[in-house]
Amino acid sequence: MPYNHMICSVLGCKKDPEASLFRPPGPRKSWDLYCAWIKATGNPKFLNLSTVRPEKISICEKHFKDEEVSLMKSRRKTCVPTLRLPDI
Ligand SMILES: [Zn+2]
Repeated sequence: MPYNHMICSVLGCKKDPEASLFRPPGPRKSWDLYCAWIKATGNPKFLNLSTVRPEKISICEKHFKDEEVSLMKSRRKTCVPTLRLPDI
């Protein structure tokens, strides 16, 4: 489910009211996937994984391929953001 009231956590991403935002998969459900999302943000705020609160993370659809966006809108979050990410 998209969270349009939130801001994309990816460093340097410009706010786009048209873009849907996605929350990361729960850390207890899929730690690897969860970590991949946090790392993808390139945001120093989230470097210390133990202090990150999952509910504060959201990544907009611009960082996913089209087919991944539709997949996440309809089903479970099994994709990792790969597009338009900051250079880490
Ligand atoms: Zn974004």
